[in-house]
Amino acid sequence: MKYSDLAMGLKASEIRELLKLTTMPEVISFAGGLPAPELFPLEELTKVDVEILAKEGQQAVQYGTTEGYLPLREKIAGRMKKAFQVDCNPDEIVVTSGSQQGLSLLAQIFLNKDDVVLVESPTYLGAINAFKLCDPKFVEVPTDDKGIIPEALEKILAEYGDRVRLMYVIPEFQNPTGITWPVERRRAFMDIINHYDFPVIEDDPYGELRYDGDVVPSLKSMDEKGNIIFLGSFSKIFMPGLRVAWMVANPEVIDKIVKLKQAVDLQSSSFAQRQASFFIDMFDLDGHVEKIKDLYGKRRTLMCDSMKKFFPEGITFTYPEGGLFTWVTLPEYMDAKEIMPKVLEKNVAYVPGGPFYPNGGNANHFRLNYSNMPEERIVEGIKRLGDVLTQEIAK
Ligand code: PMP
Repeated sequence: MKYSDLAMGLKASEIRELLKLTTMPEVISFAGGLPAPELFPLEELTKVDVEILAKEGQQAVQYGTTEGYLPLREKIAGRMKKAFQVDCNPDEIVVTSGSQQGLSLLAQIFLNKDDVVLVESPTYLGAINAFKLCDPKFVEVPTDDKGIIPEALEKILAEYGDRVRLMYVIPEFQNPTGITWPVERRRAFMDIINHYDFPVIEDDPYGELRYDGDVVPSLKSMDEKGNIIFLGSFSKIFMPGLRVAWMVANPEVIDKIVKLKQAVDLQSSSFAQRQASFFIDMFDLDGHVEKIKDLYGKRRTLMCDSMKKFFPEGITFTYPEGGLFTWVTLPEYMDAKEIMPKVLEKNVAYVPGGPFYPNGGNANHFRLNYSNMPEERIVEGIKRLGDVLTQEIAK
């Protein structure tokens, strides 16, 4: 068989490959970004399903519009106001099959081969993979513990000018680092990008999962030119398997996205969209989010306290105010991917940091997830990891 150039360039995502290894029950996995399954509201979902079938059974299994189920888009507009300080109406919202689809569609409407896409350094691996299909040039914008460094961004923009066609950022509890941009950084960022016309994707699947600190306004809420495209998702606040997420953008972008989505999958699942919408009507999604925050906040603190206790000196990690991940930095001479087999031998898993940098390098980091493992396994896993790191650092 002869395959296209695109197919020939496909590589399995390193996260997927790792997840395969880590599904054995004995493995304490800090690798994936999985929500805690014990919090999925399954009893409520059973009632939701019965209600959907009774009230809108035929429509729920029928084709629907590409834009998405209107009552859900109306609720999303309300959530955008309440949680993200954004005024928008349902016409500016498209429901997507996960934010992952949003990323993929956006790349396809904005990027030609060799166009420049700006990303944080490091950035979300799933976005790198989605963008790569369009074969762009990735330019990594340096970051510090407050997110993108404005002066570095200005320099890059001066250098690449019109070649920049898209920028992608995760200002809230970033994947992989857990870092959140403070409001001053956001203002400085908006001041810079307001001088340009390229679109900026603000990807925010974790924004509602804040455990401490004050809420920071979203970039979209500061957007005066309509260049910010906001991605939100039900994956982390509800259930990822439904694949229901959303995009908020100006009407011109929405028009292109709807046309492309028609070609890709016609629409997101009629039934799953109703599951999210009916759940919000029948139960208390905000109360559910509070339960998630309680549990993950405890796990975050426990993981960071355990690292303090069991990790040797010379290793640093972020203390995220929300989200699902902390980012560990080893001394520069160490390589997290090389150490990985020794860690797996102890039945512990993390994601090596290298793949989060589209242009390579930076092997001395790894990402840890704290939402998915129960408390006793977090302590045990970090202890085992600490043992391996203590041996490796002493070499
Ligand atoms: N963006 C980021 C930053 C993520 O971490 C994830 C999921 N891990 C996604 C997008 C994709 O989420 P969804 O389930 O909505 O496709």
